[in-house]
Amino acid sequence: MDPLERLQDRPGLRLGIMGGTFDPIHIGHLVTAEEALLQFELDEIVFMPTGEPPHKTRQVASPEARYMMASVATATNPRFWVSRLEIDVPGVDYTVDTLDRLHAECRPEVEFFFITGADAVLDILTWKEPERLLGLCEVIAATRPGYDLGRLAGVLADLPHKENVHVMEIPALAVSSSMIRERLAQGKSVRYLVTEGVAALIAKSDLYRLPVAQSQGGRDPGHG
Ligand code: ATP
Ligand code: MG
Repeated sequence: MDPLERLQDRPGLRLGIMGGTFDPIHIGHLVTAEEALLQFELDEIVFMPTGEPPHKTRQVASPEARYMMASVATATNPRFWVSRLEIDVPGVDYTVDTLDRLHAECRPEVEFFFITGADAVLDILTWKEPERLLGLCEVIAATRPGYDLGRLAGVLADLPHKENVHVMEIPALAVSSSMIRERLAQGKSVRYLVTEGVAALIAKSDLYRLPVAQSQGGRDPGHG
């Protein structure tokens, strides 16, 4: 059962939505979600892995593999869930589409908090219908090493409902999925950058393994 079916009838729910490619999910995502839960007194967090992008570019792992890693990474936290909405439902490709869908399915008083990192929120004007999105949810923008949220006020200047964007200071973790994919490609350990279960799954499923010719000489990816 998708967690949304379980949560949609909960009265007064404050629901955090953490969108991302999660290719793979890492400790930066988990810490960000946990901080949002604590700092904004949320009840539950739903991780929402993106579906297959229209143009396959950077992404390496399939939606199913990314969903599985997110499920494994969040399994031990009773307030963390993973939804298949963006993976399974055609036409839910943008955050605003997802929020429309959530509003349609949940009780009217449910409050939604969309959680992003600094890099993502600084691009908010390029998102689909940012103004309407800010009428559908509050946005929580987490600090992230390498991205200056000092620029945010300027970015939001002319955006209606900009008071619905909140900056959240979190313990700095200079970790990214791209960095993890790079390390795996080089045969380096990713231990402690992803959860143990995710590291095991990556190793076991040969996710992110390069063609033999390129990985020769390195250790097996994921064997932290
Ligand atoms: P990639 O390097 O492939 O872009 P990523 O680490 O940025 O991967 P995403 O799946 O793109 O991960 O990010 C999902 C969300 O999590 C985004 O809003 C992003 O800003 C946020 N995020 C990712 N890593 C961190 C981090 N270390 N600190 C704070 N926020 C983060
Ligand atoms: Mg990213």
